[in-house]
Amino acid sequence: MDATPAISELVKAVRDGFDSGRTRSLRWRLQQLDGLRAFLVERGPELERALRDDLAKNPTESQLTEIGVVLAEVSHTISRLRSWLRPRPVAVPLALAPASASVILEPLGVVLIISPWNYPLQLLLSPLVGALAAGNAVVLKPSELAPATSAVIARFLPRYLDDRSVVVIEGGVAETTELLAERFDHIFYTGNARVARIVSAAAAKNLTPVTLELGGKSPVYVDDTVDIVAAAKRIAWGKFLNAGQTCVAPDYVLATPDVAGRLVEALRGAIASLYGEDPRRTTDFGRIATDAQFDRLSALVSGRTAAIGGGSDEAERYIEPTVLTDVDRTDDVMAQEIFGPILPIVTVTGLDDAIAYIRSGDKPLALYAFTNDKTARRRLLTETSSGAVGFGVTVAHLSVPGLPFGGVGESGSGSYHGRRSVETFSHEKAVLSKPLRPDTLGLVYPPYTPKRASFIRGLLRRLS
Ligand code: NAD
Repeated sequence: MDATPAISELVKAVRDGFDSGRTRSLRWRLQQLDGLRAFLVERGPELERALRDDLAKNPTESQLTEIGVVLAEVSHTISRLRSWLRPRPVAVPLALAPASASVILEPLGVVLIISPWNYPLQLLLSPLVGALAAGNAVVLKPSELAPATSAVIARFLPRYLDDRSVVVIEGGVAETTELLAERFDHIFYTGNARVARIVSAAAAKNLTPVTLELGGKSPVYVDDTVDIVAAAKRIAWGKFLNAGQTCVAPDYVLATPDVAGRLVEALRGAIASLYGEDPRRTTDFGRIATDAQFDRLSALVSGRTAAIGGGSDEAERYIEPTVLTDVDRTDDVMAQEIFGPILPIVTVTGLDDAIAYIRSGDKPLALYAFTNDKTARRRLLTETSSGAVGFGVTVAHLSVPGLPFGGVGESGSGSYHGRRSVETFSHEKAVLSKPLRPDTLGLVYPPYTPKRASFIRGLLRRLS
């Protein structure tokens, strides 16, 4: 007989944990955050090994982009949580005086967090920080496509947290489907837009709110007002980090033919300075997570002459940092999120053409621009829509805790990080309190005698 409890029983146990009221106190919340911090520190070596097994991540990169990101989020939250949770007073209109009004943050209940494989630790545990800080019970669903990381989290994390209120459920599509049949109070999903539609449809059955952290094609605009060599370094770093498997990685570059030509040479130098002459030989450059992803990416390069790179090795799931020029806007590589170490450069006639092209596609998760032209910056900011904008820098906006992180349209809805995470996982409850005496409301109660009607109309005129 299988001794593992059914998914519905595990979810019910966690709901009982929430219903017991244990998750509400500030003390419980801070204890969980301390536990999470201890897990990340004490299990750091196991986590680094797992991330190397899953994605060939260099341990320093794992600290920088996974473990360290969550630790920073934990510290930021612990030091501010008490003040974030204070009721926020709100002004009351004179007509209602005397009265007081405030907004309080209330835990939502049981939260489901579903995460993908590319940053399998960060994207599961960073939302967990907000969910715990907001006083929720949590069901965590790591990605089956990063099995080593999933296993370490499932094995060790429950030892550091209140296991009556937090559970890790491993598995693939079947388990996620079973989970989605349960009722949650919030679903936080990070992954692709196809599955996001499945998650949204399942959530809609219970009117469960969802946060969708999705991807898309994040453009980079480069013009001739900047130092192209410095810009190339920032672009190459953001693009080739985690072998291009980063949701906010630059997906493609838009530049005039002249800038594009200079950029290719600068990118060649940038790649060599980051990963040496043969990136395959450094442990600083990652590998593609799965065979399916490797095949998809190989097909994008096959039959083309790359301006830089283009090589690959199936046995290692290695794809060389690659730059493609002569890219047509209708090419396959421009019809999908690349999500790998392939950077197409699409030529444009200028800023108008670049903006028109960006607007013709889905709203991206991030837009990057390397320009010192104030008008170009303003126009990109106001004439395009994206989850975030980075001027002179790629990817790093997600490490600013005060900036909400999330997409818009096809790149997602809702956001998190820092205080926004606590708000995402809370209900903002409106509270109005008015003494029974003096009964000022008596002035607007029926019957609407001519005198009272004229008083009410006068009042409304003064208020409008
Ligand atoms: P994935 O395949 O690991 O899927 C994510 C989760 O969805 C997994 O837990 C998986 O079990 C579940 N899932 C998969 N198929 C399902 C189905 N049919 N029904 C129910 N659940 C299912 O990851 P992915 O989607 O390949 O991740 C890559 C995508 O995620 C890219 O588009 C990337 O841009 C995006 N992404 C976004 C962010 C962000 O923060 N906005 C971060 C990372 C990745």
